[in-house]
Amino acid sequence: MKIARIEVYQVDLPYSGGVYLLSGGREYRSFDASIVRVVTDDGTEGWGESTPFGATYIAAHALGVRAGLSEIAPHMLGRDPRQVDRINDAMDQALCGHGHAKAALDIACWDIFGKSVNLPVCELMGGSTNLRMPTISSIYAGDPDAMRARVAEHRARGYRGHSIKVGALDSEGGPALDAERIRASLADRCPGEYFIVDANGGLLPETALRMLRLLPQDLDFVLEAPCATWRETLSLRRRCDVPIILDELAQQDEDITRLIALEAADGVGLKISKAGGLTAGRRHRDICLAAGLTISVQDTVGSTIAFAGIVHLGQTVPERALRCVLDCRDMVTLETATIHAPIKDGGVMAPKAPGLGVTVNRDVLGPPVGVYEA
Ligand SMILES: [Mg+2]
Repeated sequence: MKIARIEVYQVDLPYSGGVYLLSGGREYRSFDASIVRVVTDDGTEGWGESTPFGATYIAAHALGVRAGLSEIAPHMLGRDPRQVDRINDAMDQALCGHGHAKAALDIACWDIFGKSVNLPVCELMGGSTNLRMPTISSIYAGDPDAMRARVAEHRARGYRGHSIKVGALDSEGGPALDAERIRASLADRCPGEYFIVDANGGLLPETALRMLRLLPQDLDFVLEAPCATWRETLSLRRRCDVPIILDELAQQDEDITRLIALEAADGVGLKISKAGGLTAGRRHRDICLAAGLTISVQDTVGSTIAFAGIVHLGQTVPERALRCVLDCRDMVTLETATIHAPIKDGGVMAPKAPGLGVTVNRDVLGPPVGVYEA
């Protein structure tokens, strides 16, 4: 089996909640998705997606995904997509770094691999735990009462995890406002719920410590990505007893191993496009499990195709380590594909169909913006 053709599509995914507000005054209304279709010489097709969370979230942007794909794609033609590690070696030889560009191709190769042996991707990555995985909401930063209402709304729809965005600038209300946001968001907490307070790197050690000191000791949450740099994170880590999760700082293999060596955190937000695809994500999963770190399986954002990658990888993480998965379908209004993965009894399971288990809606993709052929 050989890769015969690669097509790249671009679609805009409007944010379902209007305007998404993140620390540091960042705003997102729509997300620029790159979707890849890989076709083999026997006509099998695989799909993958990479959708950065705007250009200001991490060092990844949508134009870079497509520029990276134009560098990599010609080198993939003629290769066996089922040899996922060798595919990744070849991508690394064609282009240094830029994991977010490689992710879409990598995911499409896993889709083909699964279809070629008639198994869902999660079975190829170690086997399904058959657990119903709790989904996590993404509660953008805003007025504390409005955040409390958005948590309640997600709770009513079956979400058991909630990611509360904080990181107010002093001019916006600073640590006092963030403490109010946390109190309000956790006010109606139900048994079994999991709360992440996510600053997306927007706090300094000083503002994080002030925020934490304004809160009662018995609030149960973890602090995600409090600071933008390793130095700031380690400084806070030494002086804070709240568990810390890394996200934006934990992207590549070396970040995960550094996190462990420095004991910088207790868990990782594993985002597939940030990691560079499912092959890298699988490796990060195993390193985290070996080190006793918790894992939330997510992506930066994305449509149903990105969600499929999330549920298949998430489905292979043992219950003890898995905190939640992100249902990014819910964050965008455009449906690029259908998938049988309903949220039931507070959780979601990977579909049983071969590969990713998605049926792509070709009509919404429009014509390809790039085509590479042998
Ligand atoms: Mg995060």
